[in-house]
Amino acid sequence: MERATEPDVAYRQIMTFNDDARLDTSKVRRAGGGKGIAVGGGVGVVAILLIGQLLGVDLSGLLGGGTAPQSTASGEPLDRCTTGASANEDVECRVVGAATSLDDFWTDTYPSVGDNRYASTSVTLFSGQVQTACGRASSAVGPFYCPADQMIYLDTDFYDALRGSLGAQGGSLAQMYVIAHEWGHHISNLTGTMSAIDREGTGPKSDGVRLELQADCFAGAWVAGASQTRDEAGTAFLKAPTQAEIADALDTASAIGDDRIQERAGQVNPETWTHGSSEQRQKWFTTGFERGATACDTFAADAL
Ligand SMILES: [Zn+2]
Repeated sequence: MERATEPDVAYRQIMTFNDDARLDTSKVRRAGGGKGIAVGGGVGVVAILLIGQLLGVDLSGLLGGGTAPQSTASGEPLDRCTTGASANEDVECRVVGAATSLDDFWTDTYPSVGDNRYASTSVTLFSGQVQTACGRASSAVGPFYCPADQMIYLDTDFYDALRGSLGAQGGSLAQMYVIAHEWGHHISNLTGTMSAIDREGTGPKSDGVRLELQADCFAGAWVAGASQTRDEAGTAFLKAPTQAEIADALDTASAIGDDRIQERAGQVNPETWTHGSSEQRQKWFTTGFERGATACDTFAADAL
């Protein structure tokens, strides 16, 4: 399986990471060496140990009996992704860079939104399909967060879909916004919000839409704070986003609004919305960006 490369030369000019920043390569793994296998927290102990031996990684962190594993991604580490420079060049290293910055941001920010301890998540990159504690998933579902194993799953081919069928510009900040949104779901899971809601309802004011808009808001809060996140030597991971990059992230939020997606399919029906409209998604991203994570209580808001 070929590694995802950067198809659009124009976006390679956008250097959002500081070249010297040191990234945490433990936050992202690529699943399964082309075999399409990744393990999640719900896999049996024997299978985890066996796969752990095959991959030569320590998966014992997953054996927490199903409750809140300190998430350790399984699969191949991305050893080439140790610097900010690598994140500017390579789409998979950009995921590592985003995850490193997000973890630092939420370590500092989580106490303002949750009254328990922050626990990290991690990202599993995959191609084709992947086995998770939430079941087997294919690339067709797009990036997702699995609450049962507290991991984010991402097929970087999704970025091509963003630029192609979904019609977004899909620049570097937009790519990271997608990860920040999934990380936002992890935050809602940690705070207990995710397990408390009614998952059955749909529509523009449903709990499901509120949860998605909360993730957009958390993503916006990170974008605003990202340039303040630093490695151990004090080097900021990211430069402050440009107006063009912020517009690009908003464009992505808009492109994956339910109404926009339904428009392309032919008929817009708000009662079936699960993620919110383009306008709602942009509004809540902006709310997080301008007012921070504490402004992201979408469940208390009358007007979404
Ligand atoms: Zn979501």
